[in-house]
Amino acid sequence: MSPRAQAKVAANHDCCTNTGLIYPDRGKRCDQHATAADRTLVADLAKKARPILGTQIWPYGADIDVAARQRLIAWAEEHNVKLAKTRCQGLHWLRTGRCGVSLCKRAGRWMDHVTSWTNHDGPALLLAQPYGLMPDDVIQLGGLATSGEFKVQIDGNGWYGYGSVAVELWRPGAYETSSQQRVSEVLDNS
Ligand SMILES: [Zn+2]
Ligand SMILES: [Zn+2]
Repeated sequence: MSPRAQAKVAANHDCCTNTGLIYPDRGKRCDQHATAADRTLVADLAKKARPILGTQIWPYGADIDVAARQRLIAWAEEHNVKLAKTRCQGLHWLRTGRCGVSLCKRAGRWMDHVTSWTNHDGPALLLAQPYGLMPDDVIQLGGLATSGEFKVQIDGNGWYGYGSVAVELWRPGAYETSSQQRVSEVLDNS
């Protein structure tokens, strides 16, 4: 988290500062100082996230920020994706379904807060949530978009928060599959 964002979070005890979760009221509270409502919210979100995360823990950002957990669930449900089991920080996994390098590095400066996502066909989407995009980033993303290898979408609707932008790289087929699934779910529910 950026120092500026951290400064807006209020903790009343050292234990909360050191081990607490940041709640939607921007208070940081540890297990001991969490309210009953805090505990209920966290348990409820853990249950809702189970189909999205499986046995995995909350990714960076959502690990300590409960509002990011809420946004992550809404985002993943809207996109029809689940968190992938990969530590790839570059484009290997999205390209080939695996990351075979021993030390995986970002393929660009925009690859900050990277998470990878699957749909029922496999690797679907890489989400990067940088605090902003530099001209070099825009040129690189433009190149990836025009190559036709990925569908690139940039908007403000990620889940990380703190003013980050959402850069979505979709495998072209996966984007259509997830969109069609969304449409059929809307029709089923109507
Ligand atoms: Zn505490
Ligand atoms: Zn990799």
